[in-house]
Amino acid sequence: MKFVDLPTQQRRIRNSIEERIGRVLDHGQYVMGPEIGELEEQLARYTQTRYAVACSSGTDALLMAMMAYGVGPGDAVFTTPFTFVATAEVVQLLGATPVFVDIDPVTFNMDATRLEEAVRRVAEQGAPPFCKRSETQGRLTPRAVIGVDLFGVPAEYDRIASIAKSYEMVVVEDAAQSFGAEYNGKRACNLAGIGCTSFFPSKPLACYGDGGMCFTQEKGLFDTLCSIRIHGMGAHQYDNVRIGINGRMDTLQAAVLLAKFEIFPDELTKRQEVAGRYDSLLRNIPGLTSPKVPPGIVSAWAQYSLLARDDEDRRRRRDRLQSAGIPTAVYYPKPLHCQSAFHHLGYREGDFPVSEDTASRVFSLPMHPYLSEEQQERIAKAMRV
Ligand SMILES: *Cc1c(COP(=O)(O)O)cnc(C)c1O
Repeated sequence: MKFVDLPTQQRRIRNSIEERIGRVLDHGQYVMGPEIGELEEQLARYTQTRYAVACSSGTDALLMAMMAYGVGPGDAVFTTPFTFVATAEVVQLLGATPVFVDIDPVTFNMDATRLEEAVRRVAEQGAPPFCKRSETQGRLTPRAVIGVDLFGVPAEYDRIASIAKSYEMVVVEDAAQSFGAEYNGKRACNLAGIGCTSFFPSKPLACYGDGGMCFTQEKGLFDTLCSIRIHGMGAHQYDNVRIGINGRMDTLQAAVLLAKFEIFPDELTKRQEVAGRYDSLLRNIPGLTSPKVPPGIVSAWAQYSLLARDDEDRRRRRDRLQSAGIPTAVYYPKPLHCQSAFHHLGYREGDFPVSEDTASRVFSLPMHPYLSEEQQERIAKAMRV
């Protein structure tokens, strides 16, 4: 059994993929070929955003978004410690300071009440709560929030936006796991000033390598993102008006994405069915907490993540599944404030108890559109320990 079944998907659309790759080989525009614009147009329409900027990865999409907003030294950027490292990494790369905010125990997304506390504390004292050494790093100004749509469920953007507004902060959506999700009738990637997604092979919409995209409603941000994507170019390629990056998406990856996007809406429906079947199959297993999707939200089901009783219980269940040939994964075993890379921020174990508790109990089951009922029954059976 596969955790993510890419071969079955490929068999379904192999002809279309080969045809589109063939067209790229024919026209030879490997960098910024016509497929890039075609993909941007299709995905902007799908996410109901005005502008889309294809780029080299989800990480670079986040980096470009932070750069477009001019985030830098002295800026506090609020995000959760229970996410993939890239979310906070880009903040640090620009010399700004990631300020962590604990998560909600049900959605695993940023707890807006705690966000408000953390922002107020930084605004008043120039330092985040818990941070033991920040006094020596100079005063911080609240500058941005990166909401993370973990496992496919959008963060609470209504509340995040109102907090951001009262402190004049910008909001970026890390939609790397939520492409296709919905929040109060709006699509993920369209829930903040700039939405950033990833097309890494294991994400809901994925290419055959690295890729990402930024989405925005604002022409000014769009122009800036396009410039940053190509080394800060101005009116022409060798006119450099700002510091940028080499952030382009390969034309070949855009071709693959165009083929995959044809079946994406159908795959999303299938993901809902798979999640629904898991919900009913796992409902009555003692000690397990199934994922809950809040009202008004449609998850993209990037992951189907459960909570075990504790670390030991998780280990036993994962071992059982593994012996039955069923792969599982843990996203994420160690919150970012406990990672050596962020040691300099001065956080300690115990600072974000919900994130730490979740990290010790969470695990994810195989999740993809092609998971059969029989396979899911086998999984549920192996889960009863
Ligand atoms: C995958 C992921 C990223 C980074 O995307 P890449 O395309 O791998 O660079 C960022 N944030 C989250 C939450 C992710 O899951």
